[in-house]
Amino acid sequence: MSNAIPFNRAFLTGKELGYIREAVNAGHISGDGVFTRKCQSILQDTAGSRQALLTTSCTDALEMTALLLDIKPGDEVIVPSFTFVSTVNAFVLRGAVPVFADIRPDTLNIDETRLESLITPRTRAVLVVHYAGVGCEMEAILALAHRHQIAVVEDNAHGLFGRYRGQPLGTFGQLATLSFHETKNVSCGEGGALLVNDPTYSERAEIIREKGTNRAQFFRGQVDKYTWVDLGSSFLPSDLLAAFLLAQLESAELIQARRRRVWTNYQRELAGWAGREGVRLPVVPAHCEQPFHMFYLLLPSLAERQALIAQLKAQKIMSAFHYVPLHLSPMGIRFGGRPGMCPVTEDVSDRLLRLPFYTELSEDDQARVIAVITDHVSLRAAA
Ligand SMILES: *Cc1c(COP(=O)(O)O)cnc(C)c1O
Repeated sequence: MSNAIPFNRAFLTGKELGYIREAVNAGHISGDGVFTRKCQSILQDTAGSRQALLTTSCTDALEMTALLLDIKPGDEVIVPSFTFVSTVNAFVLRGAVPVFADIRPDTLNIDETRLESLITPRTRAVLVVHYAGVGCEMEAILALAHRHQIAVVEDNAHGLFGRYRGQPLGTFGQLATLSFHETKNVSCGEGGALLVNDPTYSERAEIIREKGTNRAQFFRGQVDKYTWVDLGSSFLPSDLLAAFLLAQLESAELIQARRRRVWTNYQRELAGWAGREGVRLPVVPAHCEQPFHMFYLLLPSLAERQALIAQLKAQKIMSAFHYVPLHLSPMGIRFGGRPGMCPVTEDVSDRLLRLPFYTELSEDDQARVIAVITDHVSLRAAA
């Protein structure tokens, strides 16, 4: 009997425990130790951002962006409905009203052509999510935001190492966030980072991350005692987690090379079948470099997707649908969400299926996944 193939499996480089031992031996296991500084420096170099601050999660980094932008009750933020709840919730926690935007049918990113109609005098920010690490149309989005004096925040949880017109994702908005959750390309279990691209937010970002105190300035000798100066919370991870993360960041090239192979295998082996069955594979425009975060299929219908999930599961292969439209969630409905509001999101959400995708997915296991899919008798063919 063949082995089970999970949807995701954490990748270990082998250096994680050694670094954690080093952090323990160095006696600094709280935040902002030597491993945190090393990770931040690598992130500044690879992400090309002025300032990277490790956080306990991408969710926390998003909450920091809402604090940094001084979001107040009644402020509006434009968000894609097709995203993870944290993108929106971080702003709703400050009293913001989410305004749900639909996505483009090709990249499944926020539809920049429909943004202007959603802007009102209360709009404070637009949140963009680079779905599957494929860049949103940042040129148009930045021009629009500039014209209306609203901030741009990139939820770049999928997009570390991705580029748009040659420029790293996470460097376009005033602020951007990263995730190092177990399911992301580079991970420390739970973790994230805030990227500060606009230096006017730098000093406050450090303060908010350190419980609203000027502790970072104190440690740099810039002030002689530290005290409560602003709102804040505890957003910094233990150096033990940073030690784990450093091992992963140092292996980024290997991780990315393996993931590229997995992605291109799926693309090559499924293209013919997809064409025959009316299934759409991911679209990566020529001006976008993607970081091979996931591989998805867009099946012709909800029924066909559910049938394929069941057929894969019968062979012990786990696949997963993705975001349920936020505007149709119980919380989204409280903010005025209703069916038909984001038609592309509603349609895609029913038909999208993510295939097993992880750094160490073996060629044999991947071949099994591909065989089940290409042998899959579609409902239309059976009808
Ligand atoms: C994973 C993810 C998050 C949340 O990341 P955490 O680090 O688990 O808080 C937020 N947004 C998107 C788009 C994600 O994929």
